[in-house]
Amino acid sequence: MSFPTNTNAIDFDSARLQRFGFAPAHGFVPQPLDYQQLQRRLELQLQTSLEADKILAMFFQSVQQFIPLKALNYKHVGTDLRLEFGERSRHNASYCITHDGEQMGELAFQRDRRFAEVELTQLEALLATLLYPLRNALLYRNANLSALRDPLTGAGNRIAMEQSLTREAEIARRQQQPLSVLMLDIDHFKGINDTHGHATGDVVLRGVADAIKDRLRNIDQVFRFGGEEFLIVLTNTGRESAALVGERLRNAALQLTYPVNGSPVELTVSLGCSTLLPGESPDSLLRRADTALYAAKRQGRNRLEMAG
Ligand code: GH3
Ligand code: MG
Ligand code: MG
Repeated sequence: MSFPTNTNAIDFDSARLQRFGFAPAHGFVPQPLDYQQLQRRLELQLQTSLEADKILAMFFQSVQQFIPLKALNYKHVGTDLRLEFGERSRHNASYCITHDGEQMGELAFQRDRRFAEVELTQLEALLATLLYPLRNALLYRNANLSALRDPLTGAGNRIAMEQSLTREAEIARRQQQPLSVLMLDIDHFKGINDTHGHATGDVVLRGVADAIKDRLRNIDQVFRFGGEEFLIVLTNTGRESAALVGERLRNAALQLTYPVNGSPVELTVSLGCSTLLPGESPDSLLRRADTALYAAKRQGRNRLEMAG
């Protein structure tokens, strides 16, 4: 038998997993641990956190005491959550974790020598202790993410924007890096709603948000500032580079066409750009981007204006 070959599916609803053990006499825990003791210890320990990374780190550390492992890798399909512990290694035992038909991610154990059957059975039993803590952590993470995200466009919301600006301004100051923002507003958006209806307006808004996200580096962040207005936070980006990004976004909007009732809806955007000044507050940075945006509107729209 060799690994990495198969991915085993574990359905925790099925009767495959056994429950082990009785309480050790007088609370005495002999060394080395047997895996039933380890399992009971894990059941308690893993309840102490709601964060997936902490839970998996505890799990990895504890299981290692009983079954030698080099790495533990976790990937949650459908979200961008990937966690890796230890150093990658040759032999792999991976498990898809499902509960009640819900995909809870894929977990892979790795090490230099292959896993014995008995070890795999034990790993599977230990995995059972991870089920509810991991499920709670995923729910918690999802709740946190939704609290910070605009449901229509998937961009960050105002709360996320304020947190991010404060953090980014702090990093920029501490590391003496430039920080720029772009305030982007769709031109004559009311006209799109009036002509094609609000539902089409929503589709267009989502399309614009996706187009912005597609054209940024993954360290840049997009927030929905208001109705049809977005704020783009460009980490470690000075004035000239920010202007290039702004122009790229303006051109991207020109290329977007939304076939509505057979005829394309044409779209332009206006942008205002500002770069953090020494000692400047995030609020002032935003105000200057907003003023530049209104200058772009006054000067005929479909243009980028730089804050003075
Ligand atoms: P300007 O070029 O000056 O920006 O003109 P505008 O029409 O884009 O600006 P205005 O502020 O007059 O209108 C913004 C419109 O955006 C009005 C509002 O109904 C619409 N809007 C705001 N939020 C949403 C939304 O979530 N969905 C849809 N479909 N429309 C929205
Ligand atoms: Mg507008
Ligand atoms: Mg607006």
